[in-house]
Amino acid sequence: AVDVDPLTLTDGFHLLIDALKLNGIETIYNVPGIPITDLGRYAQGEGIRVLSFRHEQSAGYAAAAAGFLTKKPGVCMTVSAPGFLNGLTALAHATTNCWPMILISGSSEREIVDLQQGDYEEMDQLAVARPHCKAAYRILHAEDIGIGVARAIRAAITGRPGGVYLDIPGALLGQVMDAVEGEKSLVKVVDPAPAHFPGPDAVSRAVEVLKSAKKPLIILGKGAAYAQADEKVRELVERLGYPYLPMSMAKGLLPDNHPQCASAARSLVLKESDCVFLIGARLNWLLSHGKGKGWGSDPKKFVQIEIDPKEIDSNQPIAAPLVGDIESCCTALLEAIGDDWQKPSEDWTGMIRGKVEANIAKMAPRLQNNSNPMDYHAALGVLKKAIAENPDTVLVNEGANALDLTRSVVDVMKPRKRLDVGTWGIMGVGMGNAVAAAVETGCQVLAVEGDSAFGFCGMEIETICRYKLPVCIVIMNNNGIYRGDDVNRSGTSDPATTVFVPDARYDQMMQAFGGVGVNVKTPDELNTAVTEAFASRKPTLINAVIDPAAGKESGNIGSLNPQSIVAQA
Ligand code: ADP
Ligand code: MG
Repeated sequence: AVDVDPLTLTDGFHLLIDALKLNGIETIYNVPGIPITDLGRYAQGEGIRVLSFRHEQSAGYAAAAAGFLTKKPGVCMTVSAPGFLNGLTALAHATTNCWPMILISGSSEREIVDLQQGDYEEMDQLAVARPHCKAAYRILHAEDIGIGVARAIRAAITGRPGGVYLDIPGALLGQVMDAVEGEKSLVKVVDPAPAHFPGPDAVSRAVEVLKSAKKPLIILGKGAAYAQADEKVRELVERLGYPYLPMSMAKGLLPDNHPQCASAARSLVLKESDCVFLIGARLNWLLSHGKGKGWGSDPKKFVQIEIDPKEIDSNQPIAAPLVGDIESCCTALLEAIGDDWQKPSEDWTGMIRGKVEANIAKMAPRLQNNSNPMDYHAALGVLKKAIAENPDTVLVNEGANALDLTRSVVDVMKPRKRLDVGTWGIMGVGMGNAVAAAVETGCQVLAVEGDSAFGFCGMEIETICRYKLPVCIVIMNNNGIYRGDDVNRSGTSDPATTVFVPDARYDQMMQAFGGVGVNVKTPDELNTAVTEAFASRKPTLINAVIDPAAGKESGNIGSLNPQSIVAQA
């Protein structure tokens, strides 16, 4: 018992909340429990929007996506050990994707944990978190909360963004200190992501390499989308006049129907180009590390805009690195190339346009088909139209075939309107992404989900219904992982390892929580259901029945599966 007037005191709970608010944190993605239940309650009471999820992994994915969408750290809050570990997957995902996120987890009593005396949910969380994130901190004293939160925010945003772990021992929350002293101890972070200009030599080197290109190509990555330098990026791409490929979450940075967009001629431009200009994109597995058959046999020169100097030369030698932030690098390059830039030859750009148009024309009839049961293309033709008519919609997407085919069929017309499985290709990000998209943008969300991917996060439809979010989920239900028609090779009555309950009615799950659930079997029915969902903005789940024989093993990345000699013999 403290012998002072509580009105002159503050405590760890309130200092933490005040520190977050002071730094512009408006939303917490939360799962309540010991020791952070009251922290969530009080944060809500103090005006932070606290959204409680059913599983920490989804709350964490939402925080990660919020980081990508807002350029501010998305905050996830969890209980100790198991809740922390669930959230850690998302923290690692945020770090891998270079998105700012802070995972705040309550932890057990330090004295007991460190002596391994078997506390409630005992775990050395700080040590466990450290290898999976950009930085990890623990706050032990109430008077350090201001600095601790400031460090977490700066570490998450500055340079290459990433995930930060903040360990909050339960005892910290109850610590008290003088309210005036407490307020003085808070820190507002100044300029957490300072502009980072490339040096003049680096700029002129890049211009020389670009000038020497005969068959140039730009690759836009999600770093360029994250940077929110949309006008500058567009100006640079258009001034250079190069064909460009958007990586999946850079789709819409320039509209997908832009005349320079080479998505529909991807194989051609990767193979034939002689100079590749990477803007906020890494030459990782998603680009076959910049080598191999798909990249053609002639040597290429690379130019790369990148915030993290260590990324340069990670897979291929980079002839002209531009280390800096996207906005500053684009500005510097635009100044250096001036207004009379020589655009690439019509031989190159015309050939690509021809290929793009031919491929789009070839695809068109498949998107109109009325096959029964529906295939992916028939369903996606409807969704492509829905997005084209409602370009502010955020498209969330995960699955194998549901992912690959949606990415190539559905055009995105505005920046940061596509959230998907990211660098790892994680299944189960969909509902977290959908919640964050609705909460952070206020826009309608369309989540195109494989039935398998949805299974990893499906319980969050209760969260979506509870907060009445404008989310329309379309489950591409082909009864299984990759396909729904695989056969058990043992002859027992178990289904094959990749097959689910046939004809499952995911729409009925949505109805259980008061949402709208619709079962559709034709493109027309799908069209009606999506149109109604967009008009009403009600939480909606559409179970789209897809041919179990549609879809291929691992979608477009089947080549990553190891092959068995024994099985082939
Ligand atoms: P994609 O998967 O779309 O190709 P990646 O995640 O591989 O994109 O690459 C994004 C890159 O962008 C990362 O290397 C990251 O360091 C970089 N990046 C992130 N933010 C910025 C920024 N503001 N300026 C420059 N580069 C950035
Ligand atoms: Mg499936």
